[in-house]
Amino acid sequence: RVQKSGETGYLFYSPEMDRRARENLRLEGELRNALANRDLLLYYQPKVSLRSGRIVGAEALLRWRHPDEGMIGPAVFVPIAEETGLIFDLGEWVLDEACRQLRAWLDAGIAARPVAVNLSARQFDARLPERVQAVLDRHRIDPRLLRLEITESLLVRAPEVVIPIMNQLVAMGLALALDDFGTGYSSLAYLKKFPISTLKIDRAFVVGIPGDDNDCAIARAIVTMSQQLRQETVAEGVETEAQMRFLQELGCDQLQGYLFSPPVAADAFADMLREDRRLAGVVPASSSID
Ligand code: C2E
Ligand code: MG
Ligand code: MG
Ligand code: MG
Repeated sequence: RVQKSGETGYLFYSPEMDRRARENLRLEGELRNALANRDLLLYYQPKVSLRSGRIVGAEALLRWRHPDEGMIGPAVFVPIAEETGLIFDLGEWVLDEACRQLRAWLDAGIAARPVAVNLSARQFDARLPERVQAVLDRHRIDPRLLRLEITESLLVRAPEVVIPIMNQLVAMGLALALDDFGTGYSSLAYLKKFPISTLKIDRAFVVGIPGDDNDCAIARAIVTMSQQLRQETVAEGVETEAQMRFLQELGCDQLQGYLFSPPVAADAFADMLREDRRLAGVVPASSSID
């Protein structure tokens, strides 16, 4: 990567950038191997209803079990995969693995819930719908069990290209969620052009609830307007009961966060489903009004 000097506008390389470039190159090579050697895995984080306290779905989150460095999170290697184009193969693996796991749960008699997979903007091309369909067919998965999380960076691209692809996915039976909402450039008014059924309130705003007035106002605005657009809302990164209560009073539909569970291995998630684990302290919405 090249960095611009603020003073002169000249481009220069520093030893630090050189080191980082080499580190990225090493990681890219290792990531290719990891894909081939099955050193990647998906963790699952429950999404919990704020009405019933029950698990209503999961988000699949990619992990890399590195032979020397232990478990590595996607924040480290997804950007590298995006830069190098490896994200296509990686994304394909994630879709396949999520559907394979869903099929395994179904075959084991576990009442599977919809699993949402994260997509990079780069994966969103005209052939995405047929690739998704092929994966669904391969594992005999009802499309309603697979969801896709996209980010706002996709919405600022040419809508005449993006919207038909989204429409195709929706026609196939998949629901689309907008991830990290509030951090990008799209406005709520702009949103209604896209066939998106779920908004995920970014953790950056959840963090300040209930103490920070601005964060509370933003969360309230997102929930209120998304209700008018008939979208469901999911709050990301909920860690405290106070956050949960505030979000529940706003009418937010679901939460995801350490308060209920961090992302866990597939077996641990299946255990939660089997035990029908509930979020403690959820007050039924109707009785909180009385
Ligand atoms: P994201 O989609 O917004 O996922 C939520 C992130 O927040 C996850 O980080 C999750 O572990 C973390 N999180 C959940 N609850 C809490 C909480 O209560 N507190 C805190 N502090 N964090 C919480 P993770 O797993 O490291 O993933 C980071 C990002 O990497 C994801 O953000 C997503 O954008 C990307 N990513 C993950 N898996 C994939 C994938 O398969 N493909 C692509 N393209 N991107 C992925
Ligand atoms: Mg996500
Ligand atoms: Mg998110
Ligand atoms: Mg986020």
